[in-house]
Amino acid sequence: MKTLMMKQRLYKGKRLLLSFIYPNRCGFCEKLISYSDYYCQNCYQELELCNDKVSINNIDRAICICYYKDIAKKAVIELKDQNNGYAVSTAAKLMSDKLNSLNVNADFLIPVPISKEKRVKRGYNQSLLLAKEIAVLSDIEVKNNVLFAKEHLQQKYLTKSQRQENTKNSFYIRNTLSIKGKTIILVDDVVTTGSTLDYLALLLKKGGASQVLALVFAKTPMDNSH
Ligand SMILES: [Zn+2]
Repeated sequence: MKTLMMKQRLYKGKRLLLSFIYPNRCGFCEKLISYSDYYCQNCYQELELCNDKVSINNIDRAICICYYKDIAKKAVIELKDQNNGYAVSTAAKLMSDKLNSLNVNADFLIPVPISKEKRVKRGYNQSLLLAKEIAVLSDIEVKNNVLFAKEHLQQKYLTKSQRQENTKNSFYIRNTLSIKGKTIILVDDVVTTGSTLDYLALLLKKGGASQVLALVFAKTPMDNSH
């Protein structure tokens, strides 16, 4: 098994090599930056950091980085729909730094799953990409064989109760033996109502997880949430 130091060295080496072919860029504004950086200071200053207490029923602690607006919104769209690796690295680094600064200990990172249909169309699950980078930066293993999404979710146009019903029918859990008594961090790019995270946390707890936290890059501002 690779040690953390080796993993981090490989990760840094890969970033350095990649920067020769694709010079490293800020995931927010695409300005060229040193290979060892993850964003430029101007963008970091501009970022509206999230300071709301996020309460989601079955989530023991929800951690978010910033509000889903302006440059953060642009970065989420880039990492979700444009397969922009710079935006993934930027978001993952901010998420990992916050996790490390809060001294959170957990056994596994589990990305919020997307349906096969969505994954095939998009080519990837953005939450898994985020989780994989956070795994190296924060030394927590990713578990990608526990939660699954059944079908394409079109939550946007549904009422709150329809959303809850749709969410319940859209996910399932497997391999629960591996999560018994474990502390898990669910990883996602954006949180709006938190209904998906809530339901996934419920599934994990029913499956035996002792604690479920959520680590989300961007949170929809209060006045826009419903
Ligand atoms: Zn920038």
